[in-house]
Amino acid sequence: MSTPIFLKQHAYESFPQNGVVAYFSMEIAINPGMPTYSGGLGVLAGDTLRSAADLGTPLVAFTLLHRKGYFRQHLDAQGKQTEDIQPWIVEDYCTEEAPRVTVTVEDRTVTLRAWRYDMAGRAGHVIPIYLLDTDLPENSPWDRSLTDHLYGGDSNYRLQQEIVLGMGGVRILNALGHRVNVYHMNEGHAAFLTLALLEAQLGGGPLNKVTPVDVNAVRQKCVFTTHTPVPAGHDRFSIEQSNRILGYERTARLQSLGCCHEGMLNMTYVALVFSRYVNGVALQHGNVSREMFPEYKIDSITNGVHAPTWLSPQFQELLDKTIPNWRRDNLYMRNAIEIPLPDIIAAHAQAKETLLAEVASRTGLVLNPKVLTLGFARRAATYKRADLLFADPERLLEVAKSAGGLQILYAGKAHPMDEPGKALIHSVIEKAQKYSGVDLRVVYLENYDWQLGALLTAGVDVWVNTPKRPYEASGTSGMKAALNGVPSLSILDGWWIEGCLEHYTGWAIEDGDDDAAEATSLYEKLENAVVPLYLKSPEAWGHLMRTTLAYNGSYFNTNRMVKQYIRNAYYPVSLVTPSEVRETVGVNS
Ligand SMILES: *Cc1c(COP(=O)(O)O)cnc(C)c1O
Repeated sequence: MSTPIFLKQHAYESFPQNGVVAYFSMEIAINPGMPTYSGGLGVLAGDTLRSAADLGTPLVAFTLLHRKGYFRQHLDAQGKQTEDIQPWIVEDYCTEEAPRVTVTVEDRTVTLRAWRYDMAGRAGHVIPIYLLDTDLPENSPWDRSLTDHLYGGDSNYRLQQEIVLGMGGVRILNALGHRVNVYHMNEGHAAFLTLALLEAQLGGGPLNKVTPVDVNAVRQKCVFTTHTPVPAGHDRFSIEQSNRILGYERTARLQSLGCCHEGMLNMTYVALVFSRYVNGVALQHGNVSREMFPEYKIDSITNGVHAPTWLSPQFQELLDKTIPNWRRDNLYMRNAIEIPLPDIIAAHAQAKETLLAEVASRTGLVLNPKVLTLGFARRAATYKRADLLFADPERLLEVAKSAGGLQILYAGKAHPMDEPGKALIHSVIEKAQKYSGVDLRVVYLENYDWQLGALLTAGVDVWVNTPKRPYEASGTSGMKAALNGVPSLSILDGWWIEGCLEHYTGWAIEDGDDDAAEATSLYEKLENAVVPLYLKSPEAWGHLMRTTLAYNGSYFNTNRMVKQYIRNAYYPVSLVTPSEVRETVGVNS
């Protein structure tokens, strides 16, 4: 049994003396060697934990093991995506914990265990991440596979996984001896944890005896972050499915407590009903979420990224030399406004060279480091409109000519079941082949992941984002770019509404009535703002890079974000009495 984590003497923030935050997420980008994430949600979870560890936050995390990973993407010459599983060696990264607990799935008893990964912060504070695993001999072959595939299988598989994550997670947490002050559901996938808490609250007594006092007791312990306005991002299960897999009694109780919507069990409503604090992930996403769920009070805490994870080695060196305090407190990055321009220009040139060398080694294509280079990489979800840059290819060619050449680097996976997403990749690759030539060179890189993401966001000149409003809840890759001094050219959606200072951190693509109108704005911004500045002088561009880093790098990071979660979600002043708090401020550097 592992020991509970207590407040360390050197923590930056104020925490209750005992107990931890228990953070639950279906995916977490823990380590580049572990394919346990699919995209932004998992990267955010990983960056949250990295910053929480840096800040000395008493926190433990739960996810599924995903033994066979997300998937490795292959693209053939025509741009058709195929997928391979990505098994990884668990013992190389994690240590097995002794306890075994069980959950009931479809009248079967499923046994599970946890593997622990120790995530260490910069001053040595460790956040244990427990990866739940049902691959045990006492389980049937089907049940042994429940923790194999992230977002794999059908909705029956998903519902069973969510029982393992939520209910299994709470039980293993108790078996491990953690004392929990706050349960944080990072998205609705883990919302069955509230059911386990409710059953514990009733002492194992029948669920039909539940009172508002019991519900409130659970609510006081739970916080929930919703992550997307896209309907498919909110898990729903039919009542028949829920009766069969979760059980009739539990389903009936959740139904009577308001957890169903449009005749389906809705995991977002489960989380909303049982949480005392709810937030969206950017200012506008808070507004959109309040419109979607008008009966709930919803705050917003804008996402960030873990700066040391996403800054290129060159920029880290430069910051260490000029602003040594940046690692302790990312707000100091605002002082980057003083860094000499030649240093900024040189650091970016090196990051660009590293990226182009990687492109050459992967594809054999040698790109020109002097040529304006755009980056577009993210999951190939249709609302992100990866093909908007190609809405009018002739126009794009004109822009490329006026810039003395244009290079565009693409990457991104489509979910294996997402045919429209796959069609989008296919269409981009087809047009890239058709229109690439002397002036325009377009490359679609295979198998977008954490490491490729870091190279791209640091090494391109402009980061492009073209989501359909208002579906981008936040977006975080543009924040990674900003840290590296790379401006964004983006639709005013998600974080960019807060981050866009026209000409200082990038440019806004104007809202239009349809895709064509927004594509026109995209070309006009490229032609009238981006290209002239790029061609004007390295100093003019360097100035833009410096303000991008200073203004946006200093704010859109998880160092700031985790502090906001601590103060507003986990331990709002109103919930913590002075006698429970030991004030220990920043002696840890
Ligand atoms: C940062 C990141 C994302 C998130 O991208 P968005 O800009 O939020 O769409 C997705 N995938 C990987 C591999 C990333 O590193």
